[in-house]
Amino acid sequence: MVRVRFAPSPTGNLHIGGARTALFNWLYVRAKGGKFILRIEDTDKLRSAPEFVDEILNSLTWLGFSWDEIYYQSKRFDLYHEYAQKLLKEGKAYTQKLEGKLGEAIIYKVTPGTIIIDDLIRGKIQFDTSLIKDQVLIKSDGTPTYNFACVVDDADMQITHVIRGDDHISNTPKQVLLYEALGFKLPQFAHLPLIMGMEGGRLSKRTGATAISDYRKMGYLAPALVNYLLLLSWAPGNDVELIDINEAVKLFDVTQVNKTAATFDLKKLNWMNNQYLKNADPEKLADTLIPMLVEKNYIHPDSFDRNYLVSLVKLFQPRLTTIADFPDWADFFFVQELKIEPEAEKKFLSQDLSREFKLFIEKLDKLGKFDILNIEEGFRDLVKELNLEAKTLIHPIRVALTGKTIGPGLFEVIYCLGKERTQARLSRWIRGGSNA
Ligand code: GLU
Repeated sequence: MVRVRFAPSPTGNLHIGGARTALFNWLYVRAKGGKFILRIEDTDKLRSAPEFVDEILNSLTWLGFSWDEIYYQSKRFDLYHEYAQKLLKEGKAYTQKLEGKLGEAIIYKVTPGTIIIDDLIRGKIQFDTSLIKDQVLIKSDGTPTYNFACVVDDADMQITHVIRGDDHISNTPKQVLLYEALGFKLPQFAHLPLIMGMEGGRLSKRTGATAISDYRKMGYLAPALVNYLLLLSWAPGNDVELIDINEAVKLFDVTQVNKTAATFDLKKLNWMNNQYLKNADPEKLADTLIPMLVEKNYIHPDSFDRNYLVSLVKLFQPRLTTIADFPDWADFFFVQELKIEPEAEKKFLSQDLSREFKLFIEKLDKLGKFDILNIEEGFRDLVKELNLEAKTLIHPIRVALTGKTIGPGLFEVIYCLGKERTQARLSRWIRGGSNA
């Protein structure tokens, strides 16, 4: 049976690279059937922290990568010591006391030779072990090293496929030596290509090395992020970019993963997120938005009109990059005191439009039914009567109603704002004390 593992170190949050590794392990096991093991590599007591474990587990859950078994290396020290002792007894390792250290380190004696790894993605890779120094298995403070604990665990957990980032490729021959020394069966290795920042080089905070929990807070949708991660190193074929994860499971083949480094492109992720937002269930988006809107005092948690909120969500859905854009884009629906962008006011509301606004207010009163079609028709009639181009009035009206120069279709905005609010916001711009 296939058994894969994702083995994060909780010395930091889950980032794009880790999430991509988790995704490819999860995909592999869903495609082949088997178990997905989560192993928290928390041997470094000083640098590991429970809040990072929480962030990693929550982020994996949010992304939808459920695991079948979970282990913590910090609880398995006895096992590592047992195997280190075995290697000592067999004369494959030796102890060394370093100056100023209390305990003794256990070190593996590397014998010169050649190691060939048949990587599922990269093919055959050859290593000369004479270039590898003797390997510390257990440090003098009793903690196991990453390479040793990793091999003991991968063998003990019967991992069949080690799918991890390319940055571990130099560890792989060291681990193969330990597998052989301990008489363990080798797993298959698959090393995923590096992910680089947009300007080349490693991912930095500025180029996307943001915690998955932060993407969540910023309003990205989990399926969009997962779809984006997929495309970072694999293509479903036929230029398909938007792919449902269940569909990806059917098509995924680890040997088809790209060998070359991927580039993290925030613009592409934003595009992807917008595609998913367009098609998302407005009810669910509303649920995500409620706490954000409550926090901004835009709605009261116990007394807001849910159906109205859902209709606003529908209005903005096609234009949002992230859900978190909504409160900023749609603020004018929630506030009493409309904030008008100064530039927009200068450009569109500095001329006297009293007559035009007054006439439009009157038109709105005369519509048969206050609906989008009639609002549009009323507006078109008015510009015709005034012999104006539509845009000479559309922009000023939009700014007067929303405070912004861009947004959803004006007639839909008017419909959602309602007649009274629309008329009140327009009357503010009628000069000479006239209050329509
Ligand atoms: N804890 C290691 C890491 O986070 C795991 C590497 C591996 O998958 O072997 O990089």
